[in-house]
Amino acid sequence: MHPDLEEILFTEEQLMKAIGELGAQLSHDYKDKNPLFICVLKGAVMFMADLVKRVDVPMEMDFMAISSYGASSKSSGVVRILKDLDRSVEGRDLVIVEDIVDTGLTLAYLKENLLHRRAASVKVVTLFDKPEGRKVEIKPDYCCFEVPNAFIVGYGLDYAEHYRNLPFVGVLKRDVYVE
Ligand code: 5GP
Ligand code: MG
Ligand code: MG
Repeated sequence: MHPDLEEILFTEEQLMKAIGELGAQLSHDYKDKNPLFICVLKGAVMFMADLVKRVDVPMEMDFMAISSYGASSKSSGVVRILKDLDRSVEGRDLVIVEDIVDTGLTLAYLKENLLHRRAASVKVVTLFDKPEGRKVEIKPDYCCFEVPNAFIVGYGLDYAEHYRNLPFVGVLKRDVYVE
């Protein structure tokens, strides 16, 4: 446990079990497709690292950094590419690896952007989904856990760049982030 957390939602064991199952599913669905897994930095970095170890078909990795939150806990709706992919994705089967989908604004922008680059297919894998937060209609193709409308941190997810290193995921106490 961590003093800034209200409660723990997912232990390391629970995360690894779900990620193992997802890896097996993706190995099945992407057999012979040489997919390109795109990690959305920085939140998805832990998830990406653990997931690809469980994908046992040929695949490649790339990384993108986009900003939508700044240091706040609310989505601004403004999406900016801070680091772009290294290579062209034309004709490739893409798997976007996200930490969490809340309003859906980030993902809607990203999907559109990658389809414009003439990817053959773009699917979305997210560790967490917060369906109550949605502002645009978008549904991840693969999701490990649905979470309630609370601000969660740990296992890559931050608040003002902290808590990413926690091996578990929990709800941040309100008094830590309410200004
Ligand atoms: P969206 O554009 O869907 O509102 O937000 C997506 C991004 O916002 C996520 O990739 C994540 O970086 C951040 N985000 C949304 N909800 C949470 C949350 O509960 N905790 C943390 N740490 N980040 C969140
Ligand atoms: Mg993210
Ligand atoms: Mg963040």
